Amino acid sequence: MYDELLEKGDVVDIRYPAKGFIVVKPWGMRIIKHLYREFEDLLEEDGHHPVHFPAVIPEDNLRKEGEHFKGFESEVFWITRAGLKELQKKLILRPTSETAIYPMFALWIKGHSDLPVKVYLSEAVWRYETKATRPLIRGREFLWIETHDAFRTHEDAHAQVLKDLEIATKVIKELLKLDFIMVRRPDWDRFAGAEYTYAIDVLLPDGKVLQIATTHNLGQKFAKVFDIKFMDKDEQEKYVHQTCFGIGIYRILASIIYIHGDEVGLRLPSAVAPVQVAVIPVKPEAEEYAKEISKDIPYRTEVDLSQKSPGNKFFYWDKKGVPAKVVVGPKEMQEGTVTISMRTGEKITVPREKMVQVLSEKIKEYDEGLFKPIAIKDVSSLDELEQAIKEKKVARAGFCSISEEGKQCYQVIKEKFNAEVRGERIDIQESPEGMKCLVCGKEAKHVVYIAKQY
Ligand SMILES: [Zn+2]
Repeated sequence: MYDELLEKGDVVDIRYPAKGFIVVKPWGMRIIKHLYREFEDLLEEDGHHPVHFPAVIPEDNLRKEGEHFKGFESEVFWITRAGLKELQKKLILRPTSETAIYPMFALWIKGHSDLPVKVYLSEAVWRYETKATRPLIRGREFLWIETHDAFRTHEDAHAQVLKDLEIATKVIKELLKLDFIMVRRPDWDRFAGAEYTYAIDVLLPDGKVLQIATTHNLGQKFAKVFDIKFMDKDEQEKYVHQTCFGIGIYRILASIIYIHGDEVGLRLPSAVAPVQVAVIPVKPEAEEYAKEISKDIPYRTEVDLSQKSPGNKFFYWDKKGVPAKVVVGPKEMQEGTVTISMRTGEKITVPREKMVQVLSEKIKEYDEGLFKPIAIKDVSSLDELEQAIKEKKVARAGFCSISEEGKQCYQVIKEKFNAEVRGERIDIQESPEGMKCLVCGKEAKHVVYIAKQY
């Protein structure tokens, strides 16, 4: 289903001759540009500025923070040779940019008036994935946004983590109409080097969850390793508090395609549809009328002047997930009307003067109609967990602990079902009162969500 959707939507080409690397075709890249814009606008409103950092990181930098290095060592691409020479100092292709950026922060930050520093990169990273790759979901190169922030206090850093989640919610839920669970990851599943990690998971139709965004409070760990200090108001030298926020642009695109798509093709949320309204003349004599009315439409619009049959034109735009079509033929010309034909199949003929108003109502309705709540099933035993996984749902259960002492119970779940404890929900408050851990039967300290993951 997913692979068919990629093809129908003409989003990527997977025939590139390097395993795990894909080509993004124009329609896919145009959606991606809109995704970037939506996130970047909100990040900039929140005081972030764009930066560029090199794609390569010197080996020494990556090695500096031990836990971080261990977390990434097995999946970095090494550059050991250049031209005809072996490199004295090896380089890596960045798998994420903490160790590229933080040595520079140490140079930039001197006093408390330099803080906060809030920057973002909209670029590619590379990870040598050895698990089976899947276009846009798991590959050896992916596009994302990463923010890197430095603050005076722990409170400022925590507030930023919450702000990051607010930004993610605005775009992912409100604009893209993707439901998710927002969780605090268990301690054994934190980002390498972070104090705590908050993550956003969507549920794909095949029953696996996909992590599409994460924000981390790094505390002062990296600051101490990279010596990022500032003179505070009290004349004391202090380490900064840091956060970073990763927004998986490729994975968000994959979620839009897979979760919203249907048997016909893509169904794009209007916010990121490269064309929101396709204007379709069904006869050559209606082309002028089509061009004329298209000027009145306050959406991203394309007039389809191709030589295809009307049926093929409809099919073309439907496959690509365009929310609305405005169809005109001799009848509409004569009556001074247009026929609005939605991606949902709904059709309505209206006078030309009403077109803009009806389009705006119908596109809003269409967007709302995309939202589908995530399927969650309450479970209290391993048998019930197995059932939930079979039903392609996210299981919700009592769990003894998401700190290290709960790891044994997690391992049972991992071994039996190859599923993951995603963590404790933070977008809603849930009390584990009266619940027992579904593995060991001890009193539950957390309500957790369990699913297979990508
Ligand atoms: Zn337990």
